[in-house]
Amino acid sequence: MHIFEKIIPLKTFLQDQRKRGSIGFVPTMGALHLGHISLIASAKQSCDFCVCSIFVNPTQFNDSSDFDKYPKTIESDLKQLESAGCNLVFMPTVEEMYPHPTTESFDFGLLDKVMEGAFRPGHFNGVAVVVKKLLEIVEPDIAFFGEKDFQQLAVIRRLVEMLDLPVQIVGCPIIRESDGLAMSSRNARLTKEERISAAKINEIILAAKNLAPSESLYNIKEFVKEKINSTPLLRLEYFEISDAITLESLKEWDAAKKAVACIAVFAGEIRLIDNIMI
Ligand code: AMP
Repeated sequence: MHIFEKIIPLKTFLQDQRKRGSIGFVPTMGALHLGHISLIASAKQSCDFCVCSIFVNPTQFNDSSDFDKYPKTIESDLKQLESAGCNLVFMPTVEEMYPHPTTESFDFGLLDKVMEGAFRPGHFNGVAVVVKKLLEIVEPDIAFFGEKDFQQLAVIRRLVEMLDLPVQIVGCPIIRESDGLAMSSRNARLTKEERISAAKINEIILAAKNLAPSESLYNIKEFVKEKINSTPLLRLEYFEISDAITLESLKEWDAAKKAVACIAVFAGEIRLIDNIMI
């Protein structure tokens, strides 16, 4: 497995590699788990050469202590990538990615204003800045992103469309622990008690899905609020049922629209997100 830390040698290497076949790309922030590895497996299935990046992107953290505490497990990451058959890892420093402070700003309309965007101001602009840079460096044929970050996937699809970037974006299903908790690098920071409660998040949104569409949107939202907030150590930040394409909050059930229910919950100090198609 090739490892690069610098952009120019990486670009030179990939220029040559590109002549030999298609390139699949999986951007990550490291602290890898089976959710990330499933993206590597998809990239390997569809492309001849699989590139993974590991970069904890400072511009997408609106809370600097969250950035500082982001888990770093580089040895284990490289081992997992090697066993998954990843061909190349790009792990730049912050200085390499941001030699100058970034001022780039994007207009995603409603897409980055609701849910995560409302509670984490500037987050999606930071994601867009780094994903654009990474896509321009790696120039993959296909880039793979998890549906775990449903809104991020919608923003990235819009980014690629707006800038007319020559890459196909593929969304991959959420990988869960056996008790239903969506895998996340942040799960490692949960205490034993928080981890037990965190499993309820998926259980509760599954129960909410089963109430639809016979119950009203209002009743389902109240049900989720009550269930989450009455679970020890959990506190609901938001629960939204939205149009899965525009992310506009649904006012009433509409059989013609694909709906997605998205949730953010604090388990103790740790912020977790999940979603389910309804
Ligand atoms: P991150 O390292 O958290 O930035 O995630 C890197 C990529 O892995 C993103 O496209 C995420 O959506 C995806 N991902 C993270 N967790 C999961 C999961 N449990 N299942 C599927 N994809 C995931």
